[in-house]
Amino acid sequence: MTTCLFCQIVQGAIPSKKVYEDEVCLAFEDVNPQARVHVLVVPKRHVTSMADIQESEVGLLGHLLFTCSLVAREHMIEETGYRVVVNTGSGAGQTVFHLHVHVLGGRMFHWPPG
Ligand code: AMP
Ligand code: ZN
Repeated sequence: MTTCLFCQIVQGAIPSKKVYEDEVCLAFEDVNPQARVHVLVVPKRHVTSMADIQESEVGLLGHLLFTCSLVAREHMIEETGYRVVVNTGSGAGQTVFHLHVHVLGGRMFHWPPG
């Protein structure tokens, strides 16, 4: 039994509010949303972070980002704008060490981020 939180969500051992799924990835609502729309897109296969990505996995990254665009379209935040974020390492705010892309929308965002 894995101890990884998002692997357990992928396996269905921990419940989530699923918004999209295919053979490669799962997208579900963030339990502590930081915007009206806050969805996490995760690979089904365990990958620790962006720091773990090999050149052979560029297709996986493309798939995750394309899925973000589908989620944004589904949630109708394309027009107002949205942000995709991949926190990488604890210094950048990563708290769950299973690669995930945040899709945030439905409010104003500022730059630079905090
Ligand atoms: P990060 O800080 O980039 O590693 O993001 C981890 C995200 O996972 C945070 O936004 C958390 O709110 C979210 N999170 C933690 N546990 C759960 C859970 N059980 N279901 C959905 N989202 C979660
Ligand atoms: Zn995992």
